[in-house]
Amino acid sequence: MTYTLRSALVPVEDGYATVDVQIEVDRIAAIGPDLPLVGTAIEAENKLLLPGFVNGHTHSPQFWQRGLIPQLPLELWLADVFDTSPTEAEKTYLGALGTAIHTLLSGGTCIMDHLYLIAGQELESVAAAARAYKEVGIRAFIAPLIQDLPFVAGYPEGVKTLPHQPYPQSTEDVLAIMEAIVAQFHAPDDGIHIAVGPTGFHRCSDALFEGLRDLSDRRNLCRHTHLLETRSQKILAQERFGGSAVRHLQQLGFLDHRTSLAHSIWLDDADIDILAETKSTVVHNALSNLRLGSGIAPVLKYLQAGVNVAFGCDGFASNDGQDMLEAIKIGSILHNVTDPDYQHWITPHKAVEMAAIGGFTGVNLADQVGSLTVGKQADLVLYDLKNLSLLPRTDPIKLLVLGRPHAAVESVWVRGRQVISGGTLQTVDTAQFSQTIFNDGTGYPTPHYKTIHQVEAHYRRVMGLSE
Ligand SMILES: [Zn+2]
Repeated sequence: MTYTLRSALVPVEDGYATVDVQIEVDRIAAIGPDLPLVGTAIEAENKLLLPGFVNGHTHSPQFWQRGLIPQLPLELWLADVFDTSPTEAEKTYLGALGTAIHTLLSGGTCIMDHLYLIAGQELESVAAAARAYKEVGIRAFIAPLIQDLPFVAGYPEGVKTLPHQPYPQSTEDVLAIMEAIVAQFHAPDDGIHIAVGPTGFHRCSDALFEGLRDLSDRRNLCRHTHLLETRSQKILAQERFGGSAVRHLQQLGFLDHRTSLAHSIWLDDADIDILAETKSTVVHNALSNLRLGSGIAPVLKYLQAGVNVAFGCDGFASNDGQDMLEAIKIGSILHNVTDPDYQHWITPHKAVEMAAIGGFTGVNLADQVGSLTVGKQADLVLYDLKNLSLLPRTDPIKLLVLGRPHAAVESVWVRGRQVISGGTLQTVDTAQFSQTIFNDGTGYPTPHYKTIHQVEAHYRRVMGLSE
């Protein structure tokens, strides 16, 4: 399809300008004043045009655990998440749809889904998520979340103290599943990319990291993992590697310009230098970090060191929403309390750049998408500046980031395809989707948690909490 967006407001060096934008097939074909009309005319007057954002870290099946999991630190919260994770591929499909819908309606055009796989239905899980993303029309990176160490390996002294069985699949089995997933589902030309996604060093062996590094090299796949999300993981790194987990991942050859690292909270200055040197990306999930009490990532230090930083929502079980504008707001103004030098603070303009080009840098697509540049793929979002939440007419980007935009996304294009028009999703019937989700439940049942009782006393002991 071909479009001409007429009279859109866009940010420029010293403020804003009004321009026309032509979209041809999947690309931005021209940007400038008074362009000739080609294709469908889109009246963009009184609308702000920005590149789409990347939801740089989420777990779509947690859609079903929205508003469910109690206030707990990650290591105990995760026990409850595992006890209540969906086990049907149809729920994976609906969870991916729900995650994508929320992302699109808050300005995101791309998602990095660190996807939980249903045991024994690994390929079906990926098929379900890929089907949802193709249907809804979002650009997607699916990083199947894999591990090869037992659950208790994620706790300091866990393997030596807590009863456990070996992980049910061998490292070779897990790698074979990943090979099959890549062979079947990696389709960048359709907007579906497979990435390698070891859950983190805390539940993955060196052999698994090395196998995934090789797979990534052979197929040029992005790499995605959790990194030092909690103080407990920092203690675990000391126990397992006698030092820095970041140094260890570098020695394994896992860190490079295709690597994005979710959370990255408990890093020291030497670790930060490694991220800069390897050109790795940090995905900042500030809301999740607050919800789980994980800590505050040293994002201003990352930026000063030249480390690329993107924003993510993290899954619904630790954010309970999936609103990119909220993630950007909290993830930027949070740092005004971490450094008294206000010249280091993240401005709203910088924040939207981090969310767009920063996000696409993290998935190794910055040369193809992520800015308003002729020749780049058209992942574009129009915000309605007559929307009450974006009034009065002060500064649209400041208001978009610092305010609380509500239903402000008017149109969205992903890879040149219009997926939202007039504030309404064109690809999936959202009213029908809501009804489907409502019909699935039978009320508000009290969940039954059991795993937490096997690990809570141990966790309190190793973390030095009172008995
Ligand atoms: Zn996560």
